Amino acid sequence: MPSTKSQHPIDISIVIPVYNEVDNLEPLQAELDASLGSFAGRYEVVYVNDGSTDGSGQKLAEMCAMHPDIVSIDLRRNFGQTAAIAAGLKHSRGAIIVTLDADLQNPPADICLLVNKLEEGYDVVSGWRKKRKDTLLTRRIPSAAANWLISVVSGVHLHDYGCTLKAYRREVIDEIKLYGEMHRFIPIFAAAAGARIGEIIVNHRPRIHGKAKYGLMRTFKVVLDLVTVKFLLSFRTTPMYLFGGTGFILIGLGFIVLMIALYNKIFHDISLILTPLPLLSANLFALGAQSILMGLTTELLVRTYYEAQDKPIYVVRQIHKGRNHQ
Ligand code: UDP
Ligand code: MG
Repeated sequence: MPSTKSQHPIDISIVIPVYNEVDNLEPLQAELDASLGSFAGRYEVVYVNDGSTDGSGQKLAEMCAMHPDIVSIDLRRNFGQTAAIAAGLKHSRGAIIVTLDADLQNPPADICLLVNKLEEGYDVVSGWRKKRKDTLLTRRIPSAAANWLISVVSGVHLHDYGCTLKAYRREVIDEIKLYGEMHRFIPIFAAAAGARIGEIIVNHRPRIHGKAKYGLMRTFKVVLDLVTVKFLLSFRTTPMYLFGGTGFILIGLGFIVLMIALYNKIFHDISLILTPLPLLSANLFALGAQSILMGLTTELLVRTYYEAQDKPIYVVRQIHKGRNHQ
């Protein structure tokens, strides 16, 4: 694995969310030591104990006392995997960050593969559990459908958004704020900011110790999150295009329905009160007008968001300066 010379005190941070994984922690650290042992640069392992109740916190504290390159962050309660990852990212110092689950399903030996791929010139490299060892009906099939949908909607083509084993450059990750269960969408936000996204096949093993924390419900949440992500990506600076566009379509439909009602009245002498068409038309007009007004409100919100925090609506990769500009 090449060493990354940079202004960062650490070359690689491994960020690991932990929720009730007590029996996995020591074997995991042993595998990490084995796979990072040959690495020439400096690394740290940042464990985030997400309110475990099985003694994972104490185990991590013991491990920190033994191992100089481990950090363990205890959250006050269980905040969820995304929040745990966000806490780990915030407290990590590496130029490159690798996220990994604590359940040993993704072998730490694959970290080198990801980092090597990143060094080829990518900003994010995502693992793809091609031969995934989870249940077919509740995990693999829903996940395949969700991955397909996310790829189509986002235009970022990855096979396995849900794989936690991913590598990021710090510049890219620092720009991204995480909410809800959004950690799987980091590559999409990164791509929207101009990052180069790569993918690599990684190994996967069945879970031996501890229980899986998620089931089928997660896929539904992911699909709802995708709606938010799509909105944020396509309309976050121009919400009026979405709401105003919808408004115009509704008003257009209202107009067509009204014309049909009038046509029936004039040419077939069907009374306006005999069909629901006038009522439908009035409803569509009202909804359309509402939608346009909502667009205006959202425009104000968006402007407040960007201007209050002085956020740019673009991302700079690099600036080249002529001699007189130095
Ligand atoms: N996890 C967490 N907080 C939670 C749930 C899970 O930090 O509220 C951690 C968990 O310990 C594991 C990772 O997130 O390291 C993924 O969890 P799990 O293996 O249960 O999910 P799956 O791999 O089945 O999607
Ligand atoms: Mg797992």
